[in-house]
Amino acid sequence: SSVYAAPGSRGAVAEYRTRYGHWIGGEYVDPVKGQWFENISPVNGKPFCEVGRGTSEDIDRAVDAAWKAFATWGKTSPTERSNMLLKIADRMEANLEKIAVAETWENGKPVRETLAADIPLAIDHFRYFAGVLRAQEGGISQLDEDTVAYHFQEPLGVVGQIIPWNFPILMAVWKLAPALAAGNCIVLKPAEQTPASILFLMDIIGDLIPAGVLNIVNGFGIEAGAPLASHKKIRKIAFTGETTTGRLIMQYASQNLIPVTLELGGKSPNVFFEDVARANDSFYDKALEGFSFFALNNGEVCTCPSRALIQKSVYDQLLGDGIERVRAIRQGNPLDPETMIGAQASNDQLEKILSYMDIGRQGGAKVLIGGERADLGGDLTDGYYVQPTIFEGTNDMRIFQEEIFGPVLSVTSFSDFDDAISIANDTLYGLGAGVWSRDMNTAYRAGRAIQAGRVWTNTYHQYPAHAAFGGYKQSGIGRENHLKMLDHYQQTKNLLVSY
Ligand code: NAD
Repeated sequence: SSVYAAPGSRGAVAEYRTRYGHWIGGEYVDPVKGQWFENISPVNGKPFCEVGRGTSEDIDRAVDAAWKAFATWGKTSPTERSNMLLKIADRMEANLEKIAVAETWENGKPVRETLAADIPLAIDHFRYFAGVLRAQEGGISQLDEDTVAYHFQEPLGVVGQIIPWNFPILMAVWKLAPALAAGNCIVLKPAEQTPASILFLMDIIGDLIPAGVLNIVNGFGIEAGAPLASHKKIRKIAFTGETTTGRLIMQYASQNLIPVTLELGGKSPNVFFEDVARANDSFYDKALEGFSFFALNNGEVCTCPSRALIQKSVYDQLLGDGIERVRAIRQGNPLDPETMIGAQASNDQLEKILSYMDIGRQGGAKVLIGGERADLGGDLTDGYYVQPTIFEGTNDMRIFQEEIFGPVLSVTSFSDFDDAISIANDTLYGLGAGVWSRDMNTAYRAGRAIQAGRVWTNTYHQYPAHAAFGGYKQSGIGRENHLKMLDHYQQTKNLLVSY
């Protein structure tokens, strides 16, 4: 398979517009204040389109358009909404390659991932909620001979959604699919680092969604995100991003007493018990792959297994084999289907990661591999590339406690089961974790003892639509995915009737 041509060059399968306004009421509109900002590709560090810079005036306009649409959309049947979600999924599937290349160009992640994981998963989330919706039934219970209680699931109304840049399309779809399925209208604010992937998608699926049901306002956190999260006319705010921003979102929401869903940061432990290294077989191979997954999606994953905990008795062996595995990760042009690690999403993110390389060294951690910016030469010289990096140290160091959001792993050892659990839980976060053992009794007990919303057992980094996802502790409030998610976007009407 050959390298995809970059959008804007000859033979490209995906082309961005040169300018995107906000998507409001089913069409592009210019920002009220007439301001725009440049969108830069991390692949080569160069601007490729302009995007509307939203303010509270644009948010007002989008919220009004959404309420107008809700008058009709809020009364549609589950069947009608389910059918729409299925059509969206089909349309996306027919345009898979285009969408994957467009997202790679904007975010810098390898096209092999957008093709094989990000976009197929997004498609499946639409199908999952289309199915779940059809199976949802209200409850009827008889209280006495003459009295019956009916339960109806109603949409909330207009909801706000704010997303980060690490999975521009998948993070949007995680929120859009259940909200649309439940019959809500939406105002979505993408991250300022990746504003256009979702608008690129609107050019493909926009005609399938009634005007005003989904509105997209781009812009920066304070200028566009805060007016949305604090808007008096929204009935819920769903947010994915940093823990510090999550606190602000909750404060805004408290003013209007609306519910929040918060998917926040993480510092996920990946725990390897000694029996993993007992034989050099396919299980061990899978575990080593799991060890190397800190670099997947360039480490820009909220559940990045950024701390590896290895039992002392096999520490040198497993770490040595793990490092060999990481050496084999192919870094290169994200548009090359052979590339396994691409560019970080923005220059700010690149600098943040490089600063953590210094923090690690200064804090006394030892660099085992990587530790520098990567210069890939040619057109890619100005792109935002970082070497996959492994530090060895102790769990009290900043690089073990703070989220780096890059391909940087911090490794330490543990003596026994209790030591492993205590190190794993010694963090403010509780989003993801990995547990590796051939002994399912050990794996089960560790999985139950680690305080995290998702514990992968003898696997890592799978995100099926039907598995609940969300954080313990400062990693968030509420769950996404799974049929439970519909509950977050509905309220229950009870009709108590005496006949
Ligand atoms: P961020 O909090 O800086 O930004 C996220 C979004 O919030 C952006 O759209 C931004 O414009 C907006 N925003 C910023 N300040 C705001 C404000 N005051 N009011 C309203 N909106 C505001 O986070 P980021 O750096 O873009 O994203 C990375 C973070 O996201 C990491 O911490 C990562 O762990 C987290 N994340 C979590 C999950 C999850 O499911 N738990 C998934 C992906 C990413």
